[in-house]
Amino acid sequence: MSDTALMPIPGQIDPVPVARDITPRADGRTDLLGLPKVRIAELFVTAGLDAKAAKLRAKQVFHWLYHRGVTEFEAMTDIAKTMRPWLATRFVIGRPEIIEAQHSIDGTRKWLLRTDDGHDYEMVFIPDEARGTLCVSSQVGCTLNCTFCHTGTMRLVRNLTPGEIVGQVMLARDALGEWPKGRMDFVVPEDSGDEESEYTADGRLLTNIVMMGMGEPLYNFDNVRDALKLVMDGDGLALSKRRITLSTSGVVPMMARCGEEIGVNLAVSLHAVTKLVRDEIVPINRKYGIEQLLQACADYPGASNARRITFEYVMLKDKNDSDADARELVRLLRLYDLPAKVNLIPFNPWPGAIYECSTPERVKRFSNIVFEAGISAPVRTPRGRDIDAACGQLKTSAQKVSRAEIDRLLAEKQAEMDAR
Ligand code: SAH
Ligand code: SF4
Repeated sequence: MSDTALMPIPGQIDPVPVARDITPRADGRTDLLGLPKVRIAELFVTAGLDAKAAKLRAKQVFHWLYHRGVTEFEAMTDIAKTMRPWLATRFVIGRPEIIEAQHSIDGTRKWLLRTDDGHDYEMVFIPDEARGTLCVSSQVGCTLNCTFCHTGTMRLVRNLTPGEIVGQVMLARDALGEWPKGRMDFVVPEDSGDEESEYTADGRLLTNIVMMGMGEPLYNFDNVRDALKLVMDGDGLALSKRRITLSTSGVVPMMARCGEEIGVNLAVSLHAVTKLVRDEIVPINRKYGIEQLLQACADYPGASNARRITFEYVMLKDKNDSDADARELVRLLRLYDLPAKVNLIPFNPWPGAIYECSTPERVKRFSNIVFEAGISAPVRTPRGRDIDAACGQLKTSAQKVSRAEIDRLLAEKQAEMDAR
């Protein structure tokens, strides 16, 4: 069982217990998943290797772990045969536990996962012609309570660890059968007949990652950063930062660090252009208003016309979808001179939601107004609605509650927000 009651979430809000980066296992072995190379080397030193050997072994193990997806030390063929059992008695390479896997009629896949200490969270894979996108969770639940989001009706149970975050990407590669095969560290003689010797990295299904699953990634900054560094590491999963997008509801003080320390694409859940409406539907707006948010976007390190910031805008009938809203959106994006694209998301319903989706005509009209002002504003096709895998539908079923309970939780969260 994981050791969750020991470490508070750093910095902000309530002291919610969170798993340490290394949680003790019942069998006394240490799980290496989620650890960077230097940390693995430190553990090898602690276990008895000298510094030079530890560094070499860490480099080898890191490569097998993150680049090749190997979970057994016995399969690490460039590590001496006698060394492999030494590793296996002290360490393991884990994976999040899969509780359920669902397949949508449109090809979207959703996995329900469980942490060692028994909390459920979800990840979603969305294939289309051009790319395959994995939607990754950063927290179990969410402290924020955007009124249109199902995850927002959950309490925050805890932050996910780097291993639990990068573990989602590892599991997706496992499920899609996408680990490079063969022994790329060896020169294989042409006539060896070894069919597994070819290293193939191209033609993958999983090409992009979006931090748009459960939770607010910038409220779990350190763990998300550490996990994404493993995903981007050329010796690791080797995914380009240009293929990774982090979505935030607007945690303004963390946005610059996100650009500086992670460097991925930014998506911002704007959803409304007036204080009145954004305060209601994205309540973090009461803390960091629209002007502050857009200024932080203008200052976002690395944003340019070649790397635009995505503004997500959920289309809610008679709430935020008028012509005037569309024009105000254009005015604001111009005022802050933002390299922007707008993603219009038709509202995905969930049981007990108090909103309806705007009509297709309204969405089209809104999109046209923005588009005619020279800003790209595609309408995102909902994916995986039949298995509750679409944006904002993620919520672990174990925690489903009644409408009355939802109202009570919302009121409770509201009081928490007001008290901050
Ligand atoms: N917490 C982060 C990332 C996760 S949500 C954030 O809020 O940005 C990913 C996107 O889905 C966000 O833009 C979110 O506002 C949107 N979303 C949430 N609920 C939705 C719903 N019911 N229908 C459509 N989009 C929704
Ligand atoms: Fe949390 Fe994002 Fe949902 Fe808001 S939209 S409640 S920030 S997961």
